[in-house]
Amino acid sequence: MSWKNFLGGMLSVILIALIFFYWFMPFNEIQFGNFGGSSSPEFSVGNLTSSMQFYPNMRFPEKKISYKIEDGCSLKKKKEMEDAFSFLQGKTNLTFYPVVNGEEITVSCEEETKINDNRMFIAGEGGPTKILSGENFNVIYTGKILLLRESNCERPNIEIHELLHVLGFKHSKNKNNIMYPVSKCSQTLGTEIPEKINEVYSFESLADIRLENVSASISRRYLNINASIQNIGLKDSPSETLKIYGDDELIKEMPLKEIKVGYGLTVSLTNIWVSKIKINKLKIKIETPESELSLNNNQVVLLTSS
Ligand SMILES: [Zn+2]
Repeated sequence: MSWKNFLGGMLSVILIALIFFYWFMPFNEIQFGNFGGSSSPEFSVGNLTSSMQFYPNMRFPEKKISYKIEDGCSLKKKKEMEDAFSFLQGKTNLTFYPVVNGEEITVSCEEETKINDNRMFIAGEGGPTKILSGENFNVIYTGKILLLRESNCERPNIEIHELLHVLGFKHSKNKNNIMYPVSKCSQTLGTEIPEKINEVYSFESLADIRLENVSASISRRYLNINASIQNIGLKDSPSETLKIYGDDELIKEMPLKEIKVGYGLTVSLTNIWVSKIKINKLKIKIETPESELSLNNNQVVLLTSS
């Protein structure tokens, strides 16, 4: 056997060994950890005088709120209620407008109209009837007012009081405030309530998608990812796109369904093939076609632990 043949034979043995090593040697599973690469949501509405409302930061989705006064109301009650809407409209950034149906605030005047939606609280003669709790806001979708008495004051204090309950405001301990449980004509709105209203409605009505609980592992060349995605905003989010980057190179893109306010979904992706042998930085990102309240909570960066 010549040296050439011997060397050639050795080389093929080494090559075969390398191929064997490459394909059959079990790679250690690399765990990705959340080592400071992620960004936490910075968006916060604050908690200024949060005790004024039944739940923190209660608001309707939009600044423009629709209402309907039912036929059973006398002309006087109807007029007082309309005056209450325009009074609050003059003091805050809210707008109230009448609709024929599909209203957000329903005003009724018959005593037999019982508000007994057990799932939601009822405060006296007015209150929200459908709320969805998100992280930043408790979003009010509908509310009801039942007028039993007329105000017979210069200002329609009873109607304003009930309307404020619908907007999420609790009773006040101050006898001179309009939210005191017992109504008097001399009671006034004060400045705290309009300030609180203007504060919670200063945020645009947008969705807010938050990516969280992201974990990933890579075994050989296959990547597994788990994540949960929530809408903590004020508006339903249209379809989103989940994008996975390995060292800034797009590995995988996946369309996601619409997510309603207060809802979320869990994504579990297994065996995503990656072309690179080693990935140091994994970025998981959610993109939405519309703007959001906050974009800081849309991506998580994971770094390898070794
Ligand atoms: Zn009350």
